[in-house]
Amino acid sequence: MEENFTIEVLCLFCHSTLTADEDMEFESGDLIKCNSCGEMNDYDSVVEVAKEKAVEKVKTEVEEELSKTFNNLFK
Ligand SMILES: [Zn+2]
Repeated sequence: MEENFTIEVLCLFCHSTLTADEDMEFESGDLIKCNSCGEMNDYDSVVEVAKEKAVEKVKTEVEEELSKTFNNLFK
């Protein structure tokens, strides 16, 4: 696994990375304003999309690692 594993949270409208002040905390039901297009993103939807992307990313990495492992096994 990559050590610098980061999850990007993207605007649902323009797909820019959403940024917030460090001391800001979001919770279910909150709206996050996009700095690029000004649209309000529903926290729950944004998290759901980010989660799916993260799962995809992990899956790809695991598959790559596995194929490396198998290549070494059958040398
Ligand atoms: Zn946006």
